[in-house]
Amino acid sequence: MNIFDFLKNTFAKNESSGWREAAKNSNLTIKIPQPKFSDIKLCVHLNTAEETRKKLENLLINNWSARADNLLEEFFQICSSDDVIPNFPKEIETIVLDGYKKKPNQESIKKKVATIYIRHELNVLKNSLELDKGRMVDVKKVKIRTCEDGRVCPACRKHSKKTYNLEKAPKLPLCWECRCYYELVIR
Ligand SMILES: [Zn+2]
Repeated sequence: MNIFDFLKNTFAKNESSGWREAAKNSNLTIKIPQPKFSDIKLCVHLNTAEETRKKLENLLINNWSARADNLLEEFFQICSSDDVIPNFPKEIETIVLDGYKKKPNQESIKKKVATIYIRHELNVLKNSLELDKGRMVDVKKVKIRTCEDGRVCPACRKHSKKTYNLEKAPKLPLCWECRCYYELVIR
Protein backbone atom coordinates (compact mmCIF):
# COMPACT_ATOMS: atom_id res chain seq x y z
CA MET A 1 0.00 0.00 0.00
CA ASN A 2 1.27 3.46 -0.71
CA ILE A 3 0.96 6.50 1.52
CA PHE A 4 -1.92 7.97 -0.51
CA ASP A 5 -4.08 4.88 -0.18
CA PHE A 6 -3.19 4.68 3.47
CA LEU A 7 -4.26 8.29 4.07
CA LYS A 8 -7.49 7.83 2.15
CA ASN A 9 -8.21 4.80 4.31
CA THR A 10 -7.50 6.55 7.60
CA PHE A 11 -9.64 9.51 6.50
CA ALA A 12 -12.48 7.21 5.58
CA LYS A 13 -12.31 5.73 9.06
CA ASN A 14 -12.15 9.20 10.58
CA GLU A 15 -8.75 8.61 12.07
CA SER A 16 -7.02 11.53 10.47
CA SER A 17 -5.27 12.74 13.60
CA GLY A 18 -1.97 11.13 14.43
CA TRP A 19 -1.69 9.62 10.96
CA ARG A 20 2.09 9.44 11.05
CA GLU A 21 1.97 7.39 14.22
CA ALA A 22 -0.82 5.26 12.78
CA ALA A 23 1.24 4.66 9.66
CA LYS A 24 4.29 3.69 11.71
CA ASN A 25 2.26 1.34 13.88
CA SER A 26 0.37 -0.28 11.05
CA ASN A 27 1.47 -3.62 9.70
CA LEU A 28 1.42 -2.21 6.19
CA THR A 29 4.63 -1.51 4.38
CA ILE A 30 4.24 2.10 3.48
CA LYS A 31 6.81 4.76 2.94
CA ILE A 32 6.14 7.87 4.97
CA PRO A 33 7.66 10.96 3.38
CA GLN A 34 9.86 12.97 5.75
CA PRO A 35 8.45 16.42 6.39
CA LYS A 36 10.47 19.09 4.60
CA PHE A 37 9.33 22.35 6.16
CA SER A 38 11.31 24.12 3.45
CA ASP A 39 9.27 27.33 3.34
CA ILE A 40 9.19 27.81 7.08
CA LYS A 41 11.38 30.16 9.08
CA LEU A 42 11.31 29.65 12.82
CA CYS A 43 12.52 31.63 15.82
CA VAL A 44 12.63 34.93 13.93
CA HIS A 45 11.17 36.85 16.89
CA LEU A 46 14.19 36.22 19.07
CA ASN A 47 16.48 38.61 17.20
CA THR A 48 19.47 36.32 17.39
CA ALA A 49 22.21 36.06 14.79
CA GLU A 50 21.14 33.99 11.78
CA GLU A 51 23.56 31.23 12.76
CA THR A 52 21.93 30.78 16.16
CA ARG A 53 18.43 31.07 14.70
CA LYS A 54 19.26 28.21 12.32
CA LYS A 55 20.47 26.01 15.18
CA LEU A 56 17.28 26.67 17.16
CA GLU A 57 15.17 26.06 14.07
CA ASN A 58 16.91 22.74 13.45
CA LEU A 59 16.32 21.69 17.04
CA LEU A 60 12.59 22.30 16.59
CA ILE A 61 12.37 20.72 13.14
CA ASN A 62 14.19 17.60 14.31
CA ASN A 63 11.83 17.36 17.28
CA TRP A 64 8.61 18.68 15.75
CA SER A 65 6.46 16.13 17.57
CA ALA A 66 8.10 16.63 20.98
CA ARG A 67 6.62 18.48 23.93
CA ALA A 68 7.84 22.07 24.25
CA ASP A 69 9.02 21.66 27.85
CA ASN A 70 11.18 18.70 26.84
CA LEU A 71 13.13 20.94 24.47
CA LEU A 72 13.75 23.77 26.94
CA GLU A 73 17.11 22.58 28.17
CA GLU A 74 18.59 22.07 24.73
CA PHE A 75 17.11 25.34 23.55
CA PHE A 76 18.84 27.31 26.30
CA GLN A 77 22.02 25.32 25.83
CA ILE A 78 22.24 26.45 22.21
CA CYS A 79 21.68 30.05 23.29
CA SER A 80 24.29 29.99 26.03
CA SER A 81 26.94 28.25 23.94
CA ASP A 82 26.41 30.94 21.28
CA ASP A 83 26.47 33.58 24.01
CA VAL A 84 22.99 34.75 23.10
CA ILE A 85 20.16 35.98 25.29
CA PRO A 86 16.99 35.23 23.33
CA ASN A 87 14.59 38.15 23.08
CA PHE A 88 11.23 36.52 23.69
CA PRO A 89 8.19 38.57 22.60
CA LYS A 90 6.95 40.95 25.32
CA GLU A 91 3.35 39.82 24.79
CA ILE A 92 4.25 36.34 26.00
CA GLU A 93 5.75 37.74 29.19
CA THR A 94 2.52 39.66 29.78
CA ILE A 95 0.48 36.49 29.31
CA VAL A 96 2.70 34.65 31.79
CA LEU A 97 2.66 37.41 34.42
CA ASP A 98 -1.13 37.68 34.17
CA GLY A 99 -1.32 34.02 35.13
CA TYR A 100 0.31 34.54 38.55
CA LYS A 101 -1.35 35.91 41.68
CA LYS A 102 1.95 37.02 43.23
CA LYS A 103 5.15 37.80 41.39
CA PRO A 104 7.16 34.63 40.69
CA ASN A 105 10.94 34.45 40.40
CA GLN A 106 12.69 35.39 37.18
CA GLU A 107 13.78 31.83 36.46
CA SER A 108 10.26 30.45 36.43
CA ILE A 109 9.02 33.37 34.29
CA LYS A 110 11.83 32.73 31.82
CA LYS A 111 10.97 29.02 31.59
CA LYS A 112 7.26 29.62 31.10
CA VAL A 113 7.83 32.28 28.45
CA ALA A 114 10.24 30.01 26.57
CA THR A 115 7.84 27.08 26.78
CA ILE A 116 4.98 29.10 25.28
CA TYR A 117 7.27 30.38 22.54
CA ILE A 118 8.64 26.93 21.66
CA ARG A 119 5.14 25.45 21.68
CA HIS A 120 4.02 28.20 19.30
CA GLU A 121 6.87 27.46 16.89
CA LEU A 122 6.19 23.70 17.06
CA ASN A 123 2.59 24.52 16.21
CA VAL A 124 3.78 26.33 13.09
CA LEU A 125 5.38 23.03 12.02
CA LYS A 126 2.46 20.80 12.98
CA ASN A 127 -0.10 22.97 11.20
CA SER A 128 2.03 23.17 8.10
CA LEU A 129 2.28 19.36 8.11
CA GLU A 130 -1.49 19.13 8.31
CA LEU A 131 -1.81 21.28 5.19
CA ASP A 132 0.80 19.12 3.45
CA LYS A 133 -1.23 16.08 4.35
CA GLY A 134 -4.26 17.69 2.73
CA ARG A 135 -2.28 18.45 -0.43
CA MET A 136 -1.10 14.84 -0.59
CA VAL A 137 -4.63 13.55 -0.77
CA ASP A 138 -5.84 16.41 -2.94
CA VAL A 139 -8.03 18.07 -0.34
CA LYS A 140 -9.02 21.58 -1.43
CA LYS A 141 -10.65 22.98 1.70
CA VAL A 142 -9.91 23.20 5.40
CA LYS A 143 -11.97 24.19 8.38
CA ILE A 144 -10.39 26.00 11.32
CA ARG A 145 -11.37 24.45 14.63
CA THR A 146 -10.81 25.99 18.05
CA CYS A 147 -10.90 24.18 21.37
CA GLU A 148 -14.31 25.78 22.00
CA ASP A 149 -13.66 26.58 25.63
CA GLY A 150 -13.38 29.78 27.65
CA ARG A 151 -9.69 30.17 26.85
CA VAL A 152 -10.14 30.69 23.12
CA CYS A 153 -9.09 34.27 22.34
CA PRO A 154 -11.23 36.62 20.17
CA ALA A 155 -8.74 36.45 17.28
CA CYS A 156 -9.11 32.69 17.13
CA ARG A 157 -12.84 32.63 17.80
CA LYS A 158 -13.39 34.76 14.70
CA HIS A 159 -12.20 31.87 12.53
CA SER A 160 -13.89 29.07 14.43
CA LYS A 161 -15.61 26.53 12.16
CA LYS A 162 -15.02 28.66 9.07
CA THR A 163 -14.04 26.89 5.88
CA TYR A 164 -11.22 28.14 3.67
CA ASN A 165 -9.51 27.24 0.46
CA LEU A 166 -6.50 25.21 1.66
CA GLU A 167 -3.97 27.51 -0.01
CA LYS A 168 -5.62 30.68 1.29
CA ALA A 169 -6.47 29.62 4.83
CA PRO A 170 -5.16 31.86 7.63
CA LYS A 171 -1.89 30.49 8.90
CA LEU A 172 -2.13 28.73 12.24
CA PRO A 173 -1.20 29.41 14.99
CA LEU A 174 -3.20 32.63 15.20
CA CYS A 175 -2.00 33.78 18.63
CA TRP A 176 0.83 32.91 21.05
CA GLU A 177 -1.21 30.34 22.90
CA CYS A 178 -3.24 29.18 19.92
CA ARG A 179 -4.62 25.65 20.16
CA CYS A 180 -6.55 25.85 16.90
CA TYR A 181 -6.11 23.20 14.25
CA TYR A 182 -7.07 22.55 10.67
CA GLU A 183 -9.71 20.02 9.86
CA LEU A 184 -9.43 18.76 6.31
CA VAL A 185 -12.75 18.95 4.50
CA ILE A 186 -12.99 15.77 2.50
CA ARG A 187 -16.42 16.06 1.03
ZN1 LIG B 1 -6.17 29.72 17.95
